Amino acid sequence: MSFDLQRARQETPGCNNVLHFNNAGAALMPQPVLDATIEHLQLEATIGGYEAAAQAQAKVERVYEAAATLIQCHPAEIAIIENATRAWDMAFYSLKFGPGDRILTAVAEYASNYIALLQMAHQTGAMIETIPNDEQGQLSVEALRNMLDERVKLIAITHVPTNGGLVNPAAAVGAIAREAGVFYLLDACQALGQLPIDVNAIGCDFLSATGRKYLRGPRGTGLLYVRRDLIEQLEPPFLDLHAAEWVASERYELRPDARRFENWETNYAGKIGLGVAIDYALAWGLDNTWQRIATLAESLRAQLTELPGVTVQDLGQERCGIVTFTAASLSPEAIKQALTAYNINVSVSPLVYTRLDMQARGLNNLVRASVHYYNSEAEVQQFCETLAEIL
Ligand SMILES: *Cc1c(COP(=O)(O)O)cnc(C)c1O
Repeated sequence: MSFDLQRARQETPGCNNVLHFNNAGAALMPQPVLDATIEHLQLEATIGGYEAAAQAQAKVERVYEAAATLIQCHPAEIAIIENATRAWDMAFYSLKFGPGDRILTAVAEYASNYIALLQMAHQTGAMIETIPNDEQGQLSVEALRNMLDERVKLIAITHVPTNGGLVNPAAAVGAIAREAGVFYLLDACQALGQLPIDVNAIGCDFLSATGRKYLRGPRGTGLLYVRRDLIEQLEPPFLDLHAAEWVASERYELRPDARRFENWETNYAGKIGLGVAIDYALAWGLDNTWQRIATLAESLRAQLTELPGVTVQDLGQERCGIVTFTAASLSPEAIKQALTAYNINVSVSPLVYTRLDMQARGLNNLVRASVHYYNSEAEVQQFCETLAEIL
């Protein structure tokens, strides 16, 4: 299938300045997202912030519908939250745990999630257990099945880990969680906007994601999906006058929809920009862009493997746009610095972001070169040539 790369690049102003392989950090915004965000800031400055929000109400509401279309749910199941971590937290800290309750997580779980699990374990006596990987390095569905018993209260895993190319088998986990009647919280931060996501096919109860990564939205935006029949059973850890109404001196009532997980004040320009970013992703078609991302990443892996002293460190059966590697002669931080001088952006994945995974693999830091659909084959080639020169 042909892909209009030229248009994708023309609509991405940053393509003129940088070779951007840091899409897993923050992708380059396309022009329509930039325009919508700036336009709203200008409106705020011109007529007032509250007045601007009232005037732009339809655009603000659009983000819920766009997000619902993107992940195949109902708009009432969407909360717009300032980042993926806080979205995840709002779901996680709504759940109740007691001594001996088991929480199952994956080897490559993200530090912010794992720190929250540790805090909960310390406070309640719940236990964290890690689902082992299979021989390909992804979460072992078989092992998960064998770990289940009536004390398991939550399965909290990451769909696409922040380091290491891997796509965890989220839907297979969902089938097991549903069968066992266990809550299933999916961190889809690197997945959303990168691969097609259908929450019903996955079978998760909660899904968190960020705006700035593969969705190409503005920074400081994120979202949470909560399955509809759970919303009314869950009391978020923080409430305010947006999440609830103070209906009598001694009483409040929570909103019936997922917006009970939000808070009142928000970045309206960012929220509008996120809606435009999701619509933009939908217009390209996630099947289309995912195929291109996966192909480009495979090409990058293949070319990196050819370079002497370079080791691609990716795991898993299904691989995504996140490509990680190390080099024998130069540290990841030094490689990143050197690439910056050539206007090439990558990031470094440190041990402390995915400690269990990095420790198990004896790794300290990794170079993370994450590609998006608007990156070109020519950039992949240029990247590898520059890297070879640096090394
Ligand atoms: C980046 C990342 C997060 C955190 O997202 P924020 O929007 O920065 O809170 C969570 N999980 C994974 C897997 C990530 O890569």
